[in-house]
Amino acid sequence: MEKIVILTGAGISAESGLGTFRDEGGLWAQHRIEDVATPEGFARDPALVHGFYNARRVQAAKAQPNAAHEALARLQQDWPDEVVIITQNVDSLHEAGGARNVIHMHGTLAGALCAVCEHRWVSPPEMAVGEPCPACAAPAARPDVVWFGEMPYHMDAIYDHIAEAWIFAAIGTSGQVYPAAAFVHEASLSGARTVEFNLTPSDGASSFDEVILGPATDTVPRWVDKLLSQR
Ligand SMILES: [Zn+2]
Repeated sequence: MEKIVILTGAGISAESGLGTFRDEGGLWAQHRIEDVATPEGFARDPALVHGFYNARRVQAAKAQPNAAHEALARLQQDWPDEVVIITQNVDSLHEAGGARNVIHMHGTLAGALCAVCEHRWVSPPEMAVGEPCPACAAPAARPDVVWFGEMPYHMDAIYDHIAEAWIFAAIGTSGQVYPAAAFVHEASLSGARTVEFNLTPSDGASSFDEVILGPATDTVPRWVDKLLSQR
């Protein structure tokens, strides 16, 4: 078994022009996290939150997958064993780059979720306050994204994959936020080789066997080429 498990974060999408809440400037800078990315913020001002995610949806639809997304899709296609991509990103750039079976632990901008019955459906480009749920008709449609204070999705499946990993790679994620921070420890305990890709070393870099610094569009394709050439 030479299964590869990859965790990607905001850094990989940033190279496609999508900003993060840590960036200065851009969409996030105009809002406080507690207003647009918490259940309490949504309860307080759903119009503000829908407006924010409608804008992010427009921005994400314009973004193109980059060389790092495409290299990971190539690895998934050509590696003889399973390659699992887990992402903290809510855009669909991995899929647009050709990846399959991407695990979106923080949900996706492409999804709508009923806050009452948890029914899920494909989000319209613009969501409005009070839009009815197609299953229960409650006026409670919200973006299907995991907000601060909410439990990430698919955690059981993620830990199962990590327990079987031969390589665990974290790309463009600070890795210091729970539960992602716990993944590298779990992977090490299971005997995986661990690699971090980042622009600068993260606070959790010392937990990894190897740290590769530089833009993901540069470092990830080279890493994928090397892995595949060793087969
Ligand atoms: Zn419902």
